[in-house]
Amino acid sequence: MKVPFVDLKAQYREIKPEIRSAIMSVVEDCAFVGGKYVEQFEQDFAAFCGRRYAVGVSSGTSALHLALMAMEIGPGDEIVTAANTFIATTEAVTHAGASFNPVDIDARSHNMDASLIEGAITDRTKAIVPVHLYGQPADMDAVNEIAEKHNLLVLEDAAQAQGAEYKGRRAGSLGTAAAFSFYPAKNLGAYGDAGIVVTDEKEIADGIRLLANHGRAGATGHAVEGFNARLDGIQAAVLGTKLPHLDQWNGRRHEAAERYNQLLADLDVVVPEEMPYAKHVYHLYVIRVKNRDKVKEELAAREVYCGLHYAVPLHLLDAYKRLNKPKGSYPVTEEVTSEILSLPMFPEISEDQQKYVADSLGEVLEKMD
Ligand SMILES: *Cc1c(COP(=O)(O)O)cnc(C)c1O
Repeated sequence: MKVPFVDLKAQYREIKPEIRSAIMSVVEDCAFVGGKYVEQFEQDFAAFCGRRYAVGVSSGTSALHLALMAMEIGPGDEIVTAANTFIATTEAVTHAGASFNPVDIDARSHNMDASLIEGAITDRTKAIVPVHLYGQPADMDAVNEIAEKHNLLVLEDAAQAQGAEYKGRRAGSLGTAAAFSFYPAKNLGAYGDAGIVVTDEKEIADGIRLLANHGRAGATGHAVEGFNARLDGIQAAVLGTKLPHLDQWNGRRHEAAERYNQLLADLDVVVPEEMPYAKHVYHLYVIRVKNRDKVKEELAAREVYCGLHYAVPLHLLDAYKRLNKPKGSYPVTEEVTSEILSLPMFPEISEDQQKYVADSLGEVLEKMD
């Protein structure tokens, strides 16, 4: 048996007629950039998150970047974020002209350790950027309490958490604004690059709309220099077609995660923990295992394909040598990231595939003893 890490074709097969007709409508209308399909999806996604405004953009990275700019975070400003995240989170901060101060993560949730945030705040700090890593919201009550006390904005990096919940409220409705990615492999994926920002603040929404479209204001005027970071009509139509399925797909991911938890119960691995406050949507199902690199290699030899999210923590990447944070700076992140392994996870994964993953992992671990 072969178990891919994700299987985008399985999902396409399930919704093929809907997708084809949605794409053809955009083509017939030639509504390629902006236009009614984008507007409709913005309304639908804002409602899904329980927010007033949504502004579609070209990627999750643009969503973060333009949200920071529209929140007037720039040169001289700092934000606090998690030490274990994808580089896009911090790229966006740098591209806005600001700098970032990572805090270590909590070993149970893999999200930023809220008890460390206050220690990372300086008089230049303007915002906290929690990342809902792997599809589980960060501890947002704790984050918001600190933000309020220090008068900071909160930008959720919800790229991995479409549909996740914190105490019954959706990811995206938990801070000042939230950025989502619709990269094809995300829980809600486009057929190319796409992203969105949701917020209740009209000024932030208007600011992003302006920046994403060359600063265009009125028919001929440009209020500022902006970017070309608009959402395509075809992507919006694909996303709008998929959105009504998202809760059901997330439900299947959740069931698959529970099945993995049972199948792996007797193995010497740590399975992911769903925090009491969270509804986890398992964008990734991440275990901890000793001799991780060897285990990953042995699983691949059995045609079980795993991922690493992320193999090297931000502060140890070549891209961030300038941070001057040597090994040992973020001990929990460093320990956890040396053991993490993302197992195959997608809504259509079958029970047989999951059993094969668990059996293969059992065999590999036994061989290594
Ligand atoms: C995917 C992702 C992004 C970036 O999204 P793109 O659409 O690829 O630009 C940002 N942050 C996190 C945590 C992500 O997983």
